[in-house]
Amino acid sequence: SQFMLQNSEKLTVAGQLAAGIAHEIRNPITVIKGFIYLMKSGFGDKEEYFNIMSSECERIEQILTELLVLAKPHPSKVEPRDIRLIMMQTITLLHTQAIMNNVEIVTEFQQGVPVAYCDENQMKQVFINFMKNAIEAMQKGGKLIIQIKQTDDEKIMVRFIDEGTGIPKEFLSKMGQPFHTTKEKGTGLGFMVSKKIIENHSGEVHIESEWNKGTTLEIRLPVIKGAVEASAKLRC
Ligand code: ADP
Ligand code: MG
Repeated sequence: SQFMLQNSEKLTVAGQLAAGIAHEIRNPITVIKGFIYLMKSGFGDKEEYFNIMSSECERIEQILTELLVLAKPHPSKVEPRDIRLIMMQTITLLHTQAIMNNVEIVTEFQQGVPVAYCDENQMKQVFINFMKNAIEAMQKGGKLIIQIKQTDDEKIMVRFIDEGTGIPKEFLSKMGQPFHTTKEKGTGLGFMVSKKIIENHSGEVHIESEWNKGTTLEIRLPVIKGAVEASAKLRC
């Protein structure tokens, strides 16, 4: 039967993604079409229709921007960079949102952390994603600790430690799947794309979470020696 077919048929990763994109983009387009129809028939408040239509367009743009990273997965402008500086710039970007959410950002940066060989813009995108997720998880406010240090095994470790809602176990095991979101306005793409970016930098992402306690997200990047080899590999 059709049910059996649906159940046994495992979509490929690309197929799943394509189905998700189609669905996510069809929704705002349906809304926009509806408002075009309403405007044509002369009903209601045009100003309000314009606002909704433009916010739906922004949503499509946001989804496409995040997906473009997947289309161009390799870091294109790889240069030696101080991760702490990139982080400070990211914190500046999200400062207002943090204040509005009553979130205090505490930085614990080790001195003399070696440079990482990375694509600065992509790294910024990753930090923005993880920082936003942490802030959004603390609806009642709290502390976000950001640590950067060198580990004993020659990695640069970046940690985001929040006191937010945490992630239930069932949900945690599905992190990284596209369109996996609990937010009304979420895309469910930020984590997947960020993990992909870090992996393309020969790094790793680990996440630990306890419901009602908080989440710790950890990034490990190779220090410059390893990264040079990795980027050489990416270029061939
Ligand atoms: P989005 O933020 O658009 O929902 P993400 O891929 O960034 O998409 O995150 C997917 C989901 O993972 C979120 O909707 C949220 O449920 C969960 N999540 C991610 N980071 C955290 C965090 N720090 N604390 C609690 N939940 C989180
Ligand atoms: Mg997010």
